[in-house]
Amino acid sequence: MALPTVAIVGRPNVGKSTLFNRIAGERISIVEDVEGVTRDRIYATAEWLNRSFSLIDTGGIDDVDAPFMEQIKHQADIAMTEADVIVFVVSAKEGVTDADEYVAKILYRTHKPVILVVNKVDNPEMKSEIYDFYSLGLGDPYPVSSVHGMGTGDVLDAIINDLPNEGEEEDPDLIKFSLIGRPNVGKSSLINAILGEERVIASPIAGTTRDAIDTTFVDSEGQEYLMIDTAGMRKSGKVYENTEKYSVMRSMRAIDRSDIVLLVINAEEGIRDYDKRIAGFAHEAGKGMIIVVNKWDAIEKDNHTTNQWEANIREEFQFIPYAPIIFVSAVTKQRLNRLPEMIKRISESQNRRISSAVLNEVIMDAVAINPTPTDKGRRLKIFYATQVSVKPPTFVIFVNEEELMHFSYLRFLDNQIRKAFGFEGTPIHLIARKRK
Ligand code: GDP
Ligand code: GDP
Repeated sequence: MALPTVAIVGRPNVGKSTLFNRIAGERISIVEDVEGVTRDRIYATAEWLNRSFSLIDTGGIDDVDAPFMEQIKHQADIAMTEADVIVFVVSAKEGVTDADEYVAKILYRTHKPVILVVNKVDNPEMKSEIYDFYSLGLGDPYPVSSVHGMGTGDVLDAIINDLPNEGEEEDPDLIKFSLIGRPNVGKSSLINAILGEERVIASPIAGTTRDAIDTTFVDSEGQEYLMIDTAGMRKSGKVYENTEKYSVMRSMRAIDRSDIVLLVINAEEGIRDYDKRIAGFAHEAGKGMIIVVNKWDAIEKDNHTTNQWEANIREEFQFIPYAPIIFVSAVTKQRLNRLPEMIKRISESQNRRISSAVLNEVIMDAVAINPTPTDKGRRLKIFYATQVSVKPPTFVIFVNEEELMHFSYLRFLDNQIRKAFGFEGTPIHLIARKRK
């Protein structure tokens, strides 16, 4: 199911990004230890009362050199296009400003729920300041202090209350994938070429009404796929839709909805930072991944070209050694017929369950090759391991002391598990937990 989306709007300096970070919490910083990857603080998934939603900070998206009022308008437009719930932030310090009234006027046009947040209410005496904001005509204002974290719980309650109802259970046999990449790498061409080979079915799928460009198709063996089309997302030609941050934000949303991400790189241009950021995001989100080098027809090649490309990709994407690489051409259709089978294989590894007996044999063998680390005279003891979930495969390893499980030893175990079971194309998660 597509996660419902909440967008934060408001004029600059009211505290949108502070509120964003507050709501997104620690979920947002996890990517930072991946080398060469910095996460854009404009998009995150957040959770409250067991409901998950995507959160967008529209203030971070607009990098057009537009006049002030125009920028605010773009942000409100983005919110009205993308979001299920809009959080409109104003500031108790400045009171109601012309810019606030301007945003409010734009938001009157939407039928979506708007939550009016009066930020910078840093102490209880300031609560009386919020009454002025009734004049914006958007209902009850919520007093909040984003820096101190006060009042945010009520805002979250209001958000959850306004989210659309959860859709139907999704079809577990459906494989959802998306093609992600910079403009002009050939995503649309690949989509058309892939669909040209397969049988497209027009059944609408629950939860996808907003992103009407999703396509479902079936391969010759009857496997059903849902292709999430980010390429078609920028057709309406609004100014902000061509900005890189907007495209990153949409890509992140598509990744969240996908099981498997096909990261498309243009052979004529090579690897870009954007590609690494997207790959880092998909990795952290636990998604399956294929690195698709497109326009392979367009470059000069000799006997070494493929190997050189592979070595370069492995070097640049060290954090996703599990992702297979494929060199294709949307124009000549070279190797395109291998993609569905590759996607299916990765889907299988994402969903694979390893029995505890077999898993523990592998772990014990691993410990025999490479004894567990010690620290200050204490040695890590591994008692037992078990797989707790799939997509991505997640393993809990019960130990005597969590702190004794070093990162490097986890990585070693990760490698041994991969050696034994493959898990091609998918990250796996290993969690050390103290045995009670
Ligand atoms: P944005 O431009 O709307 O994203 O605003 P920022 O989140 O960057 O915040 C603008 C300024 O307001 C920063 O200096 C923040 O530290 C400050 N700020 C944000 N929230 C609060 C708050 O709850 N109370 C106070 N006193 N300052 C805040
Ligand atoms: P998108 O922006 O990622 O959707 O890229 P498009 O599919 O619109 O393609 C951008 C341009 O690259 C178009 O002119 C395509 O004809 C061209 N193109 C796409 N795939 C290939 C390919 O495999 N080989 C060559 N030579 N050109 C391609």
